[in-house]
Amino acid sequence: MTLSYFSLQIDNKLVLLTHQNNIHVSAICGITKNNKAHGSICYFCNNIRNAEDIMFISNTANSKRDGIHTIGVYSCAEYAKCNRVITDTEKMMSFMMHGK
Ligand SMILES: [Zn+2]
Repeated sequence: MTLSYFSLQIDNKLVLLTHQNNIHVSAICGITKNNKAHGSICYFCNNIRNAEDIMFISNTANSKRDGIHTIGVYSCAEYAKCNRVITDTEKMMSFMMHGK
């Protein structure tokens, strides 16, 4: 199991990449501008981040059965900082696998 991931911000999208059991997993997330004056807790690493170091990202699933369903979490803006302190990828994987 790996405890690292990579992310790349393209316009208002965040591409998340990781691998688990030699399978590559990716998700393309929407970024919602964080207009709060205070920070939040990163959903992936559980660390408190300042407003400028955190962003709200969402992952949308679109299935014939359930329709469009979006989940959103706060995440570190810099994946490298998150990787240094993340201890468990379970929450990150469930977010990335949403709707898959
Ligand atoms: Zn984090």
